[in-house]
Amino acid sequence: MKKDKKIIITIDGWSSCGKSTLAKQLAKELDYLYIDSGAMYRAVTLYFLRNHIDWTKPKAVDEALKNIVLDFAYNAQSGHNEIYLNEENVEYLIRDLVIAEKVSDVAAIKAVRGFAVAQQQEMGKKKGIVMDGRDIGTVVFPKAELKIFMTADQAVRVERRFKELYAKNPNITIEEVRDNLEMRDYIDSHREISPLRQAEDAIVLDNSNLTMKQQLDVALKWVKEKIDKKK
Ligand code: C5P
Repeated sequence: MKKDKKIIITIDGWSSCGKSTLAKQLAKELDYLYIDSGAMYRAVTLYFLRNHIDWTKPKAVDEALKNIVLDFAYNAQSGHNEIYLNEENVEYLIRDLVIAEKVSDVAAIKAVRGFAVAQQQEMGKKKGIVMDGRDIGTVVFPKAELKIFMTADQAVRVERRFKELYAKNPNITIEEVRDNLEMRDYIDSHREISPLRQAEDAIVLDNSNLTMKQQLDVALKWVKEKIDKKK
């Protein structure tokens, strides 16, 4: 594919509806960079918790952010970019429910969003990127060529996330997972700054009844249409 035909693909949507799975599939297929923007908010949350930062205090947040460096580096074993917090690979740690319980509060803070969004926009400068999150099509890349808004039935989403977390921690209950999903969806879609919402020009992809192969095929068709449209 020609370099100037590279586009920006944004994938936004509710928690646990398979955004990252589709983003990884697309990045692999198109040889694009995949960036998991949620990992950045999770890593900041991990830093705040570890360092007992009182994030209700703007000054404490500003000071803490000065000490945070986030990076992504490719892991050949997993085949994906993984996140580093001050040079420590925290890809696994940030998936814990302890982080999931606090991340939406942290992600609602203006300074935290400014910190993450500036880095996300920088990463998209060369195009050829797939980024998933909550505000990627609306705020981070409002001019992206392809915007996908993903959704799936809540029961399907809870089941998927439960399986993922149960594999790591068999003490986890389905109720805990459901409560967390509901709470994050509520906070993410009701916050003042960059709430989760569908961009006007986004295409909706409901994958409740789609296999991974089917969802990839649908998305690739859209990618092709957008690339063909580019002069
Ligand atoms: O995508 P993931 O579920 O890992 O994201 C974790 C949390 O990070 C979300 O629930 C949301 O609060 C926040 N987030 C955000 N904006 C993004 C990506 C994630 O506010 N672009």
